[in-house]
Amino acid sequence: MRVLVTGGAGYIGSHVVKLLGEQGHTVMTYDNLSTGNAWAVLAGELVVGDLADTTLLQATLRDFAPDAVMHFAASIVVPESVSDPLKYYTNNTANTLKLIQAVVAGRVPHFIFSSTAAVYGMPQQLPVSESAPLLPINPYGTSKMMSELILRDCAAAHPGFRYVALRYFNVAGADLSCRIGQAYAMPTHLITRGLKTAQGVFPELLIFGTDYDTPDGTCIRDYIHVDDLASAHICALEHLAGGGASDIFNCGYGRGFSVREVVRVMREVVGYDFPVRETGRRAGDPAALIADSRKLQQSLGWKPRYDDLHTMIRSAWAWEQHYARRHQRP
Ligand code: UDP
Repeated sequence: MRVLVTGGAGYIGSHVVKLLGEQGHTVMTYDNLSTGNAWAVLAGELVVGDLADTTLLQATLRDFAPDAVMHFAASIVVPESVSDPLKYYTNNTANTLKLIQAVVAGRVPHFIFSSTAAVYGMPQQLPVSESAPLLPINPYGTSKMMSELILRDCAAAHPGFRYVALRYFNVAGADLSCRIGQAYAMPTHLITRGLKTAQGVFPELLIFGTDYDTPDGTCIRDYIHVDDLASAHICALEHLAGGGASDIFNCGYGRGFSVREVVRVMREVVGYDFPVRETGRRAGDPAALIADSRKLQQSLGWKPRYDDLHTMIRSAWAWEQHYARRHQRP
């Protein structure tokens, strides 16, 4: 198939581009390189462009004539979304609307959307299933929820347009051959922050909040390896190509780890106790998020391969060491 990947130079998008290429699909990445990197695009062509550039976007869709669009390009930092909500409604909701308009007008039949567990807010029941109410508690989650609703309504109105929204839980780890991984200038996610602290890039890792209603007081998340998440996208593509209906799937493993547990495993993997300090809560964090991902496994035949926190952190650590050498960090 011919697949246009927005955000294909970013962390998750680049792992999906890699897998699409390995499986023989023809890939084109559309990325403004604001947080992505050209070197991360391991398959197909890269078009450097912004989703807000409607002229370039339409021309790219016309010339490439994809069978499917996978849409990763977005802003993803929860606390930033609280302090700068308009950035999130612009980059995530308004730009997704522009993309969907171009996709529907260009008669691209299939759309795969990067959504998030943040659309659930603070779920009443864990693990949370796809039918749980959407009650986001931060602008990031709201910006993604609005995009999901646009997709739902467009699919209802345009019979030639079908979509899958994948709700990601906490994505971690890296390509096992260290070709790609997280490469943000200012990482905010727990595992990257922790491993960079172990490397001395940051003086200490802060644990945000120890008074949550969880067994050890710190937040619980369902961490999923980025290559398992990538394979979920292939399942979604095959589902749509095979005539499957528009649908929504959680992407996680169905179990959670607290921040303290993740810190313990990071310290084990790196081999020493890098500095950690407990501090107050961070804005916008729900206490616990764990996926019920049975639907993805049962309906789409998804088979996770790296459901192990040590494996995930080891692959992230190998990547961080490789990345530091490449960028000659101390
Ligand atoms: N977290 C932390 N210290 C950090 C980064 C994150 O304690 O430096 C916590 C954060 O408060 C949340 C969990 O780790 O409870 C996961 O946060 P992350 O930013 O990795 O992902 P999110 O769940 O926000 O998408």
